[in-house]
Amino acid sequence: MSGHQSPVTDSRVLVTGGAGFVGSHLAAALLPENEVRVLDDCSTGTAEAVPAEATLFEGDVADPEAVAEAMAGVDLVFHQAAMVSVPRSVEAPVACHRTNATGSLQVLDRARYEDARVVLASSAAVYGEPAAVPVTETEPLVPESPYGVSKLAAEAYARTYADRYGLETVALRYFNIYGPGQAASDYSNVITTFLRRARAGRPLAIHGDGGQTRDFVHVDDVVRANLAAATADGDAVAGTPINIGTGRSVTIRELAEQILSVTGSDSDIVHTDAREGDVEDSRAAIDRARQLLGYEPTVDLESGLGTLVDGGTRR
Ligand code: NAD
Repeated sequence: MSGHQSPVTDSRVLVTGGAGFVGSHLAAALLPENEVRVLDDCSTGTAEAVPAEATLFEGDVADPEAVAEAMAGVDLVFHQAAMVSVPRSVEAPVACHRTNATGSLQVLDRARYEDARVVLASSAAVYGEPAAVPVTETEPLVPESPYGVSKLAAEAYARTYADRYGLETVALRYFNIYGPGQAASDYSNVITTFLRRARAGRPLAIHGDGGQTRDFVHVDDVVRANLAAATADGDAVAGTPINIGTGRSVTIRELAEQILSVTGSDSDIVHTDAREGDVEDSRAAIDRARQLLGYEPTVDLESGLGTLVDGGTRR
């Protein structure tokens, strides 16, 4: 997040997953006003993504000793480390639970000892197919993947730690995040995949008819939401899940067309079989984020995609 001063200052802060996409942006935004540590096993993230002024603790978030070492004396934790891929969670649900649910529990439990606030990365995946869009935080929580279940478990622990131990915990339910530095791997999200293919002149493959909708939120806005969650009134936010999106959505077909336009690519758009388990419609209601965090998305999709065109995706 360039050109903005962090509202978090003079703190010792841990960013778990700080070698990854969101975590590395957060770590950069917290510098130089804070002492920043990163705990990451570099499984999908890379040490090079960690800002030079931050201290990298290479370790597993589900390992209590690694967590205790990285959290010694911290005031605040942004917990981003996770197995992020839904398909991978379907292949390896126990490993997903270990990292996402047990790992979150380890962080919360150590935070109790350190008396640190924990801002936790949750996901719109906790809703499954939303009962209504825009989806509010009070909609039923019916996750459809081990990933979604693991995030729901982490949120439930965060709420319980707030209720039982008075720990200041906030769970941010991210919608679809995009921005510079996002990995373009086999499991990456649709924007990095489309950009890579458009640049290479290869066809953009849409699963199904392309009418499915998503709420794409720029990583700079996600960073702002995290910083606001770290400084918001503890009594108001403790244990509360908060949607972080833009409140707007586009169809995947519109997205593909926008990407062809911003890249100037003449790639074709092709359709493949619909993917089983894909959510049809997703759009965040962001009233709670506005009310509790003073959050307002600032980057619209067109300008956000523009920032990516000059080679902003890694791998
Ligand atoms: P990412 O894969 O870039 O970052 C995750 C980081 O966690 C990586 O650096 C990885 O090496 C690290 N990690 C994985 N397992 C670990 C472990 N056992 N111990 C320590 N570190 C470990 O993904 P991201 O997009 O930056 O996601 C950040 C957070 O946001 C995650 O919690 C994810 O579930 C959540 N989220 C992301 C999106 C999105 O669209 N990117 C949407 C909803 C929620």
